[in-house]
Amino acid sequence: MLFSDQVPTRADIHFSVGPFPVRIHPGFWVVSLLLAAGSGASLTSEFVAWVLATLISILAHELGHTVLQRHYGGRPSILLYSFGGLAFGNGADDRPWPQILISLAGPVAGFLLAAILLGLLYLGGQQPSWIDGTFTFEPFDSLFINVFLHYMLWINVWWGLLNLLPIYPLDGGQIARELGVMLLPPQWGIRGTLLVSLLVAAGVAGLAIINDNLYRATLFGLLAMDNYQTLLAYNHSRGSW
Ligand SMILES: [Zn+2]
Repeated sequence: MLFSDQVPTRADIHFSVGPFPVRIHPGFWVVSLLLAAGSGASLTSEFVAWVLATLISILAHELGHTVLQRHYGGRPSILLYSFGGLAFGNGADDRPWPQILISLAGPVAGFLLAAILLGLLYLGGQQPSWIDGTFTFEPFDSLFINVFLHYMLWINVWWGLLNLLPIYPLDGGQIARELGVMLLPPQWGIRGTLLVSLLVAAGVAGLAIINDNLYRATLFGLLAMDNYQTLLAYNHSRGSW
Protein backbone atom coordinates (compact mmCIF):
# COMPACT_ATOMS: atom_id res chain seq x y z
CA MET A 1 0.00 0.00 0.00
CA LEU A 2 1.17 3.53 -0.73
CA PHE A 3 2.77 5.49 2.14
CA SER A 4 2.16 2.63 4.55
CA ASP A 5 3.52 4.41 7.63
CA GLN A 6 0.63 3.06 9.69
CA VAL A 7 2.23 0.64 12.16
CA PRO A 8 0.91 1.23 15.73
CA THR A 9 3.46 2.84 18.09
CA ARG A 10 3.51 3.57 21.82
CA ALA A 11 3.32 7.30 21.03
CA ASP A 12 -0.04 6.89 19.26
CA ILE A 13 -2.92 8.96 20.64
CA HIS A 14 -6.34 7.26 20.78
CA PHE A 15 -9.74 8.91 21.26
CA SER A 16 -13.23 8.81 19.75
CA VAL A 17 -15.38 11.36 17.95
CA GLY A 18 -18.94 10.14 18.49
CA PRO A 19 -19.00 6.50 17.35
CA PHE A 20 -15.72 6.79 15.42
CA PRO A 21 -12.39 5.62 16.96
CA VAL A 22 -9.46 7.90 16.01
CA ARG A 23 -5.74 7.03 16.17
CA ILE A 24 -3.06 9.69 15.66
CA HIS A 25 0.33 8.27 14.61
CA PRO A 26 3.34 10.42 15.72
CA GLY A 27 4.26 10.92 12.03
CA PHE A 28 1.24 13.23 11.76
CA TRP A 29 2.78 15.79 14.17
CA VAL A 30 6.21 15.62 12.50
CA VAL A 31 4.88 16.26 8.98
CA SER A 32 2.45 18.91 10.22
CA LEU A 33 5.34 20.87 11.81
CA LEU A 34 7.46 20.50 8.64
CA LEU A 35 4.54 21.79 6.56
CA ALA A 36 4.11 24.72 8.97
CA ALA A 37 7.77 25.66 8.45
CA GLY A 38 7.32 25.22 4.69
CA SER A 39 4.29 27.52 4.68
CA GLY A 40 6.29 30.35 6.27
CA ALA A 41 5.46 29.94 9.99
CA SER A 42 8.21 31.30 12.25
CA LEU A 43 6.53 32.29 15.56
CA THR A 44 5.44 29.62 18.07
CA SER A 45 1.82 30.84 17.81
CA GLU A 46 1.94 30.33 14.03
CA PHE A 47 3.18 26.74 14.44
CA VAL A 48 0.46 26.00 17.04
CA ALA A 49 -2.20 27.60 14.79
CA TRP A 50 -1.05 25.52 11.80
CA VAL A 51 -0.95 22.20 13.69
CA LEU A 52 -4.39 22.90 15.21
CA ALA A 53 -5.81 23.89 11.81
CA THR A 54 -4.45 20.76 10.05
CA LEU A 55 -5.68 18.54 12.90
CA ILE A 56 -9.23 19.96 12.84
CA SER A 57 -9.39 20.12 9.02
CA ILE A 58 -8.13 16.58 8.35
CA LEU A 59 -10.35 15.22 11.13
CA ALA A 60 -13.38 17.00 9.61
CA HIS A 61 -12.49 15.58 6.17
CA GLU A 62 -12.20 12.01 7.49
CA LEU A 63 -15.40 12.41 9.53
CA GLY A 64 -17.15 13.29 6.27
CA HIS A 65 -16.06 9.87 4.94
CA THR A 66 -16.90 7.95 8.14
CA VAL A 67 -20.41 9.40 8.51
CA LEU A 68 -21.29 8.01 5.06
CA GLN A 69 -19.36 4.75 5.61
CA ARG A 70 -21.49 4.20 8.72
CA HIS A 71 -24.61 5.14 6.77
CA TYR A 72 -23.67 2.41 4.27
CA GLY A 73 -23.28 -0.29 6.92
CA GLY A 74 -19.60 0.04 7.95
CA ARG A 75 -17.98 0.31 11.38
CA PRO A 76 -15.45 2.98 10.35
CA SER A 77 -12.32 4.20 12.11
CA ILE A 78 -9.90 7.06 11.42
CA LEU A 79 -6.09 7.20 11.26
CA LEU A 80 -4.11 10.45 11.08
CA TYR A 81 -0.53 9.82 9.93
CA SER A 82 2.36 11.33 7.96
CA PHE A 83 0.43 11.66 4.72
CA GLY A 84 -2.76 13.09 6.19
CA GLY A 85 -5.72 10.94 7.11
CA LEU A 86 -7.37 7.66 6.25
CA ALA A 87 -10.94 6.53 6.93
CA PHE A 88 -11.30 2.74 7.07
CA GLY A 89 -14.79 1.65 5.99
CA ASN A 90 -14.68 -1.73 7.77
CA GLY A 91 -17.57 -3.37 5.98
CA ALA A 92 -19.17 -0.34 4.26
CA ASP A 93 -21.12 -1.10 1.06
CA ASP A 94 -18.47 -1.47 -1.69
CA ARG A 95 -20.77 -0.96 -4.69
CA PRO A 96 -19.81 1.95 -6.99
CA TRP A 97 -22.39 4.63 -6.03
CA PRO A 98 -22.00 4.28 -2.25
CA GLN A 99 -18.19 4.38 -2.74
CA ILE A 100 -18.45 7.50 -4.93
CA LEU A 101 -20.60 9.28 -2.32
CA ILE A 102 -18.26 8.18 0.50
CA SER A 103 -15.26 9.59 -1.43
CA LEU A 104 -17.06 12.88 -2.15
CA ALA A 105 -18.09 13.35 1.49
CA GLY A 106 -14.51 14.10 2.67
CA PRO A 107 -13.89 17.21 0.53
CA VAL A 108 -17.54 18.29 0.98
CA ALA A 109 -17.07 18.22 4.79
CA GLY A 110 -14.06 20.56 4.39
CA PHE A 111 -15.99 22.94 2.12
CA LEU A 112 -18.86 22.99 4.66
CA LEU A 113 -16.42 23.79 7.47
CA ALA A 114 -14.97 26.68 5.42
CA ALA A 115 -18.53 27.90 4.65
CA ILE A 116 -19.44 27.83 8.37
CA LEU A 117 -16.32 29.87 9.25
CA LEU A 118 -17.13 32.39 6.51
CA GLY A 119 -20.73 32.56 7.79
CA LEU A 120 -19.45 33.28 11.31
CA LEU A 121 -17.15 36.01 9.97
CA TYR A 122 -20.12 37.61 8.16
CA LEU A 123 -22.24 37.40 11.34
CA GLY A 124 -19.39 39.09 13.22
CA GLY A 125 -19.65 42.05 10.82
CA GLN A 126 -16.75 41.01 8.57
CA GLN A 127 -16.72 41.09 4.78
CA PRO A 128 -14.37 38.22 3.84
CA SER A 129 -13.26 38.36 0.21
CA TRP A 130 -11.43 36.00 -2.14
CA ILE A 131 -8.13 37.59 -3.19
CA ASP A 132 -5.14 35.83 -4.83
CA GLY A 133 -6.37 32.31 -4.09
CA THR A 134 -7.22 32.85 -0.45
CA PHE A 135 -9.90 34.45 1.76
CA THR A 136 -8.94 37.69 3.45
CA PHE A 137 -10.79 39.46 6.26
CA GLU A 138 -10.41 42.44 8.62
CA PRO A 139 -7.73 41.33 11.11
CA PHE A 140 -8.74 40.66 14.71
CA ASP A 141 -6.61 41.88 17.63
CA SER A 142 -5.21 38.40 18.22
CA LEU A 143 -2.45 37.27 15.84
CA PHE A 144 -3.23 33.65 16.75
CA ILE A 145 -6.92 33.97 15.71
CA ASN A 146 -5.96 35.69 12.43
CA VAL A 147 -3.39 33.05 11.49
CA PHE A 148 -5.62 30.16 12.60
CA LEU A 149 -8.60 31.41 10.55
CA HIS A 150 -6.38 32.06 7.53
CA TYR A 151 -4.97 28.50 7.67
CA MET A 152 -8.41 26.93 8.27
CA LEU A 153 -9.94 28.66 5.23
CA TRP A 154 -6.92 27.95 3.04
CA ILE A 155 -6.59 24.26 3.98
CA ASN A 156 -10.29 23.42 3.75
CA VAL A 157 -10.71 25.02 0.33
CA TRP A 158 -7.41 24.09 -1.35
CA TRP A 159 -6.76 20.63 0.07
CA GLY A 160 -10.39 19.77 -0.74
CA LEU A 161 -9.91 20.87 -4.36
CA LEU A 162 -6.55 19.04 -4.70
CA ASN A 163 -8.16 15.92 -3.25
CA LEU A 164 -10.79 15.99 -5.99
CA LEU A 165 -8.18 15.70 -8.77
CA PRO A 166 -8.58 12.33 -10.57
CA ILE A 167 -5.37 10.92 -9.05
CA TYR A 168 -5.46 7.53 -7.33
CA PRO A 169 -5.59 7.06 -4.28
CA LEU A 170 -6.89 10.62 -3.63
CA ASP A 171 -10.68 10.94 -3.31
CA GLY A 172 -11.03 12.20 -6.90
CA GLY A 173 -8.99 9.20 -8.12
CA GLN A 174 -11.27 6.79 -6.25
CA ILE A 175 -14.31 8.47 -7.82
CA ALA A 176 -12.69 8.36 -11.31
CA ARG A 177 -11.89 4.66 -10.87
CA GLU A 178 -15.47 3.78 -9.84
CA LEU A 179 -16.82 5.77 -12.80
CA GLY A 180 -14.23 4.25 -15.18
CA VAL A 181 -15.12 0.70 -14.19
CA MET A 182 -18.85 1.50 -14.60
CA LEU A 183 -18.67 3.41 -17.88
CA LEU A 184 -15.63 2.21 -19.91
CA PRO A 185 -15.19 -1.16 -21.68
CA PRO A 186 -13.88 -3.75 -19.16
CA GLN A 187 -10.30 -3.82 -20.50
CA TRP A 188 -10.09 0.00 -20.15
CA GLY A 189 -11.83 0.76 -16.84
CA ILE A 190 -8.82 0.39 -14.53
CA ARG A 191 -6.14 1.05 -17.20
CA GLY A 192 -7.75 4.27 -18.45
CA THR A 193 -8.19 5.77 -14.99
CA LEU A 194 -4.64 4.75 -13.93
CA LEU A 195 -3.26 6.42 -17.06
CA VAL A 196 -5.25 9.63 -16.39
CA SER A 197 -4.15 9.46 -12.76
CA LEU A 198 -0.48 9.12 -13.76
CA LEU A 199 -0.64 12.01 -16.25
CA VAL A 200 -2.48 14.41 -13.90
CA ALA A 201 -0.13 13.58 -10.97
CA ALA A 202 2.92 14.17 -13.21
CA GLY A 203 1.37 17.45 -14.44
CA VAL A 204 0.73 18.73 -10.90
CA ALA A 205 4.27 17.70 -9.84
CA GLY A 206 5.67 19.61 -12.86
CA LEU A 207 3.68 22.75 -11.97
CA ALA A 208 4.81 22.46 -8.35
CA ILE A 209 8.47 22.33 -9.48
CA ILE A 210 7.93 25.47 -11.57
CA ASN A 211 6.32 27.16 -8.52
CA ASP A 212 9.11 25.99 -6.17
CA ASN A 213 6.67 24.06 -4.00
CA LEU A 214 8.96 21.23 -2.89
CA TYR A 215 6.42 19.42 -0.69
CA ARG A 216 3.75 19.33 -3.40
CA ALA A 217 6.30 18.34 -6.06
CA THR A 218 7.49 15.41 -3.90
CA LEU A 219 3.98 14.29 -2.96
CA PHE A 220 2.62 14.32 -6.52
CA GLY A 221 5.88 12.91 -7.94
CA LEU A 222 5.48 9.94 -5.57
CA LEU A 223 1.83 9.60 -6.58
CA ALA A 224 2.80 9.60 -10.28
CA MET A 225 5.45 6.92 -9.68
CA ASP A 226 3.04 4.81 -7.64
CA ASN A 227 0.42 5.00 -10.40
CA TYR A 228 3.03 4.12 -13.03
CA GLN A 229 4.10 1.03 -11.08
CA THR A 230 0.49 -0.02 -10.49
CA LEU A 231 -0.23 0.39 -14.21
CA LEU A 232 2.79 -1.75 -15.16
CA ALA A 233 1.81 -4.42 -12.62
CA TYR A 234 -1.78 -4.35 -13.85
CA ASN A 235 -0.74 -4.75 -17.50
CA HIS A 236 1.68 -7.49 -16.56
CA SER A 237 -1.07 -9.41 -14.73
CA ARG A 238 -3.57 -8.94 -17.59
CA GLY A 239 -1.28 -9.46 -20.60
CA SER A 240 -0.51 -6.72 -23.13
CA TRP A 241 -2.58 -3.60 -23.85
ZN1 LIG B 1 -10.56 11.81 1.64
